[in-house]
Amino acid sequence: MDTSAYILSLADRCVKCGLCLPQCPTYELTANENESPRGRIALIQGWLSGQLSPSRVLTQHLDQCLLCRRCERVCPSQVAYGEIMDQSKVLLAEQTKTRFSFQSLIINSSLKLLLNKKSSNLLFSALRLLQKSGIFVLIKKSGLLKIIGLQHLISYLPDLDKPAKTKNFYPAETRTPERAEQVKVILGETRSGSGVQKIQGNVALFTGCLSQQLEPETINASIKLLNRLGYGVYVPEQQVCCGALHLHDGNKKQAVKFAKTNINIFNKQKNITAVVSLVNGCTSQLREYPQLQISESFTHKVKDIIEFLAEVEWPDDIQFKPLDKKIALQIPCSLQNNLRAENKLMALLQRIPGIKLSPDTVYNNCCGAAGSYFLRFPQLSGQLKNLALDKLKKSDPELIISSNLGCALQLKTGLTRDNSINVIHPISLLEQQLKSN
Ligand code: SF4
Ligand code: SF4
Repeated sequence: MDTSAYILSLADRCVKCGLCLPQCPTYELTANENESPRGRIALIQGWLSGQLSPSRVLTQHLDQCLLCRRCERVCPSQVAYGEIMDQSKVLLAEQTKTRFSFQSLIINSSLKLLLNKKSSNLLFSALRLLQKSGIFVLIKKSGLLKIIGLQHLISYLPDLDKPAKTKNFYPAETRTPERAEQVKVILGETRSGSGVQKIQGNVALFTGCLSQQLEPETINASIKLLNRLGYGVYVPEQQVCCGALHLHDGNKKQAVKFAKTNINIFNKQKNITAVVSLVNGCTSQLREYPQLQISESFTHKVKDIIEFLAEVEWPDDIQFKPLDKKIALQIPCSLQNNLRAENKLMALLQRIPGIKLSPDTVYNNCCGAAGSYFLRFPQLSGQLKNLALDKLKKSDPELIISSNLGCALQLKTGLTRDNSINVIHPISLLEQQLKSN
């Protein structure tokens, strides 16, 4: 079956019932059927059956989809909306010439630099220097960034910490029966259970291409927690970007290239029970590598860090300090609609005494970050960010928890004038509250 016929076979499952419409953030903002899942499927059917040409207007309606897959979750016909869109974008990119614009040139070049490990290491080293020396403030004030079209992207750049410098392997923590007894006494433990830490196995960590630069504390916290739970952690240095952004932008060739490199690297880790991924969006892409028609994928071993920690056995003596801060929780679309693991995130957070989660403090609609969407459609993205922050700030939180790097950066940009609220990854919060013993 050729690609067009395959996409049509998936799209034809849609019975046009419209149940997905109230779930769609772009339909909610525009009230335009072409900006809804049902409308986009109809456009794709029209195009692939020859009734519509792949015009600029058609392309724009497809591009403005956030790929949040909220529609997929409620669809009674189980239409594989995400796969339809990914395949359609690849085909559309093959059939149409990209219109040149200064803005797309800047966005594409920036993404190319950021998503390549070598160039992004160099770039972030330079940015760190500029931030430290104070020159960066002067550049921002000079208006130069606006002239060269980088002002919006740079507004997402946080104050940079040192990047995560990882080793190849971090051995699991072990605990002798004697030490276990001492710990029980220290904690005033009366519960049964040996508290003897067993080695549970090894995992390999998929960190995502930007986490080492932008979220080093999450990497360190994940390694620490996994070690504490009895898992040795490999961090393969040669791992590359998962390729999600490239695929969503129609660049299948580059997505396949990255996928093959990652498969080759992680398949070499023979003694691991799981490939644990730190970014929800990357986890979802790693798990969907078979859709790129590559064999020997390690998909069956891929677990998001949230899923992994929620599913494994926890030793009795791991305890957390109570949290005395008001929190709000943002649930990323990739965790909710692709991985369907939001309950696991809640269960994990409930391990921290004092944490209060209620419908008033949880936001599960798209925040507008959506891969490179925040760069390509800043207006729609900004509207969604404001809706998210309005809801999240209602309960007057001191902390907003988000498990996806892109969403966390998006929310942070909206909080720049509100320094009293911090955005934190759930794993960093768990590690922060971990009682040392
Ligand atoms: S809910 Fe599913 S079947 Fe109904 S219109 Fe939306 S995509 Fe089509
Ligand atoms: S993926 Fe999200 S934005 Fe796109 S059609 Fe579905 S609900 Fe709407």
